[in-house]
Amino acid sequence: MAESRQQQFHALLEEKRAEIQRALDAAEQSLAMVAQSRDQAGGDDEHDPEGVPLSSEWARVDAVAAEARARLDEVDAACARLERGTYGFCRICGEAIPLERLRIRPYADVCVPCGSRPRR
Ligand SMILES: [Zn+2]
Repeated sequence: MAESRQQQFHALLEEKRAEIQRALDAAEQSLAMVAQSRDQAGGDDEHDPEGVPLSSEWARVDAVAAEARARLDEVDAACARLERGTYGFCRICGEAIPLERLRIRPYADVCVPCGSRPRR
């Protein structure tokens, strides 16, 4: 029944959202910690005895957080497609996206062939 299929996708998306949210929380916590150790370092230029590359650690974690936020947007978009009834179809060729792919990437909006083809 279509209804249960939709509920199944919804459950998948909610699960994914929670997973991403946890990753985002962890990343933001790390960012806060990096900011704190940066403050403790005095804020003075060149006052970094250990030579700890805080800025590179910051950049790494910040990239993780940005990635997670982008994923959350994709999950939101997928939820919207689910409500409109267009979820699970490739936005490029219109073919149904295989269930196995949706299980792994519930926010996917293109099928495997279209997704592996270079855009532009
Ligand atoms: Zn396609």
